[in-house]
Amino acid sequence: MSEQHWIDLRSDTVTQPSAAMRAAMAEAPVGDDVYGDDPTVDRLQDFAADLFGFEAGMFAPSGTQTNLIALMTHCGRGDEYLVGQEAHTYKYEGGGAAVLGSIQPQPIANQPDGSIAVSDIAAYIKPDDMHFARSRLLALENTIGGRVLPQDYVKAATDFAHAKGLATHLDGARVCNAAVKNGIGLRAAVAGFDTVSVCLSKGLGAPVGSVLLGPKAFIEQGKRWRKMLGGGMRQAGVIAAAAHYALEHNVERLAEDHQNALDLSQGLGRIEGLSATTPQTNIFYVEIPEAACAQLREALAAQGIRASIGPHTRLVTHLDVSKADVDKVISVFKAFFKDWRA
Ligand SMILES: *Cc1c(COP(=O)(O)O)cnc(C)c1O
Repeated sequence: MSEQHWIDLRSDTVTQPSAAMRAAMAEAPVGDDVYGDDPTVDRLQDFAADLFGFEAGMFAPSGTQTNLIALMTHCGRGDEYLVGQEAHTYKYEGGGAAVLGSIQPQPIANQPDGSIAVSDIAAYIKPDDMHFARSRLLALENTIGGRVLPQDYVKAATDFAHAKGLATHLDGARVCNAAVKNGIGLRAAVAGFDTVSVCLSKGLGAPVGSVLLGPKAFIEQGKRWRKMLGGGMRQAGVIAAAAHYALEHNVERLAEDHQNALDLSQGLGRIEGLSATTPQTNIFYVEIPEAACAQLREALAAQGIRASIGPHTRLVTHLDVSKADVDKVISVFKAFFKDWRA
């Protein structure tokens, strides 16, 4: 089975390292990074910091960890961060900020475009009063659910937060998708944020790892939390080499994933009984009749297609999904719904 080419639309985390990426991993010089001795980790951290316009970078095993390290470095016990209800750092990280950081989240409703209204941010910042947690940080996410935050919004929200004395963190797990979609550079895409977390293991195609970027002193402080959280890694250059390769080679090509997502959404949307959202990047949603889901899941699996099929299905394209794969998925869906009756 390992030889079979699955068309896997569950997430952009499922990519296989390419032969060139594996070669870079095999050839990487390594050392013990807890001693600061791994040249490949250092090279990745410097490269990423420069690419996004920050002083320093820190490589960590996951985006969950880089986000948590950022929250714990920005906020202390009894502080709070303002964050969207739909945000990964609030909703999908096991409550880590509260559990491990003693940091109170102040969740705020996301607008349909994924933003948090600046007027809501203003309303939720708490005055300096012993009854309240101390509002310390605004955390945004871009892309969020595949949606790209408007650049003028990012500027307005981060300017406002800074004017109110808050720091700003971006969960930029997919910020490269946002930059490519907007046709802007990576530095421009993260402007306004004091710190940024970037996933290398999503659409960029590395097997593992994220980087946290920020001021040098912040990153040094963050390394203590990383160690405490179990993220101190030894000969991590083996995986840092893959992450470096991903950042060097796989950013511009995200445009192909966006085009494939658009083609797939349009092809599926034309099938009677289905409706699909229009993707801005590589993620979109399809409404599927609930009664069809179980059989559809089987029909797809029989054709080598994996997808998290449900009434509200998220589909994700990535560098292991080709244009031909998209055409095949559309034809398998078509054939299924031609025969299927509720
Ligand atoms: C995947 C993801 C993360 C966390 O990354 P892991 O490496 O899976 O821990 C954080 N934020 C967003 C928006 C993500 O999509």
